[in-house]
Amino acid sequence: LSAALTEVAKNFGGKQRMTENSIQPALKSVRRALLDADVNLDVATALIDGVKRRSLGKEVTQGVTAEQQFIKAMYDELLDMMGGDASQQSNRNPSLQSPVASLAHSPDFATTNKPTVILLAGLQGAGKTTAAGKLALYLKEREVDSDAVKQMSEEERASTLASRLPKRNRRVLLAAADVYRPAAIEQLQILGEQVGVEVFSLGADADPAEIAKEAVEKAKREGFDTVIVDTAGRQVVDEELMEELRRVKKTVEPDETLLVVDAMTGQAAAFLTASFDSAVGISGAILTKLDGDSRGGAAVSIRGVSGKPIKFVGVGEKTQDLEPFYPDRMASRILGMGDVISLVEKASMEVSDAEAARIQEKMVKAEFDFDDFMTQSRMVSKMGSMAGVARMLPGMGNMIDSAQLKQVEQRIKRSEAMIYSMNKKERANPDLLLTDRSARSRLMRITEGSGLSFDDGLAFMSEFQKMRTMISRMAKQAGMGQGQDDSE
Ligand code: GDP
Ligand code: MG
Repeated sequence: LSAALTEVAKNFGGKQRMTENSIQPALKSVRRALLDADVNLDVATALIDGVKRRSLGKEVTQGVTAEQQFIKAMYDELLDMMGGDASQQSNRNPSLQSPVASLAHSPDFATTNKPTVILLAGLQGAGKTTAAGKLALYLKEREVDSDAVKQMSEEERASTLASRLPKRNRRVLLAAADVYRPAAIEQLQILGEQVGVEVFSLGADADPAEIAKEAVEKAKREGFDTVIVDTAGRQVVDEELMEELRRVKKTVEPDETLLVVDAMTGQAAAFLTASFDSAVGISGAILTKLDGDSRGGAAVSIRGVSGKPIKFVGVGEKTQDLEPFYPDRMASRILGMGDVISLVEKASMEVSDAEAARIQEKMVKAEFDFDDFMTQSRMVSKMGSMAGVARMLPGMGNMIDSAQLKQVEQRIKRSEAMIYSMNKKERANPDLLLTDRSARSRLMRITEGSGLSFDDGLAFMSEFQKMRTMISRMAKQAGMGQGQDDSE
């Protein structure tokens, strides 16, 4: 898909407004890429419609290009399609989107002696038993040990930990309810040993529902707060398997019934999820083998086709290769342009559309004043240091001379100091400092007030004047001022 998006960039050719014509070729190549990735046809169509709705007629946010904004629209649609909402965004507050967070925060957790029960279902070879071991490890770990927390900055860590301890840190019991393959019980026992979690089994002759029931009773007696039930699978969906799952489900009333599906099966995984849901009722999916060369079709299609969320993803054969499913991370991964998205997000966060429109209008009329200057430079500084922003642009990372950037940042700081020393009238009316008779004495007062030399002041004013003229010319050229003379 990222190849398609690189192609997309060419189609926009620096246009400032997205029109039907300018986005049509882009939509076409994105559609082709989605189908190539084995995304379900209906889901692909819905995605394209959504991107169109989000892009058509939209002005391009200041500080980003049309193709970057298009990619962001694509990203937002993917996010919606995969069930992303604010609480599930990995970069906001990683501790809040754990798919089991709802379990950890359930009010009856710890107040009753009913353990949380997680039932795993799926076809043979999908990765159920492996997922059982992985999930046991994940739930057993403290959140402090998890990768998401390790990736946080000190600051983020302190704030999340302070508000959310204790974390998972659960006492897990694994239940071996796959009685059809003798090796299945042993496989789970080995996994249990690896992750340090006890495995409950009644041997290969017992009834799966009975195994699950006794495991839950043992958990209550011995203070386990979580039971994960591994079940049998078949080669294909059959009624016998569904009936068995229904029985286990009725017996232990699991909090989560998770379908384990193989990402390599592409959009077939989505249909499988839908059929398991109608036959036994599931609460979500664990998408395995995402480390292989699956093309993303399953991840994009599952929720759109079945209505069920993906809760975890398996990314390898080892027990630690399980991650909560974060729609935003997956969307970035599918687009292959994660950093562009955070750049666009930051840029559009700082300039509301209304504010951007107001500034643009002023630019065209050359009314750009010191307040606007401040708004803009504040936007830059809120986006992080300029060097940081530049590094987020694909391919720009190495081309930036950081000494140069530091200089620019310093100049902006100096300008800000001067603007702070101006009065309201002066800020809104730069001519008072440029051409007015009182200009010289005003400038003297201001430079003194800001601790700068008069020469600094003169330099700033000449720079500002140049910038104002340049911006006005650029704005006219880019056609921002509709109805204005654009014969230039
Ligand atoms: P089950 O029949 O559903 O219980 O499947 P298993 O848990 O026995 O897994 C079947 C095979 O898939 C095993 O060889 C696992 O190592 C492998 N497997 C499971 N999950 C993953 C994963 O996320 N990535 C990779 N690469 N292999 C996996
Ligand atoms: Mg198994």
